[in-house]
Amino acid sequence: MADKKSQSDQKLDSVVARARSDSEKRGHGYREQALKLYPWICGRCSREFTRVNLQELTVHHKNHDHDYNPSDGSNWELLCMYCHDNEHQRQTEALASKGIALDGAKAPSAKFNPFADLKSMMDDKDS
Ligand SMILES: [Zn+2]
Ligand SMILES: [Zn+2]
Repeated sequence: MADKKSQSDQKLDSVVARARSDSEKRGHGYREQALKLYPWICGRCSREFTRVNLQELTVHHKNHDHDYNPSDGSNWELLCMYCHDNEHQRQTEALASKGIALDGAKAPSAKFNPFADLKSMMDDKDS
């Protein structure tokens, strides 16, 4: 086992390996994977990126689930910060119009839905 590497090297390797696999389990490795997989171009405005401004290129999750990171990249889309903001703004507004609030905040309608009765009345009428 310890033929080439010293004990401390092996220990360090295993710590690094464990840290890496932990971070991949949490999905934090997806940015690097996505940047390897796709050209550095914004999927919306086609702005091109280089190492100099790469931090302005973000990895968007198409289904908005940051824990869903299939290794084929099918849930990722590279977007510049502005297009990414836009994309999330649209998503937030779309959900808000349905009475769903993002980031864990409960919409008032989750506690009390004034339309619940209305809907059941309409359903009764239809059937
Ligand atoms: Zn863009
Ligand atoms: Zn996103």
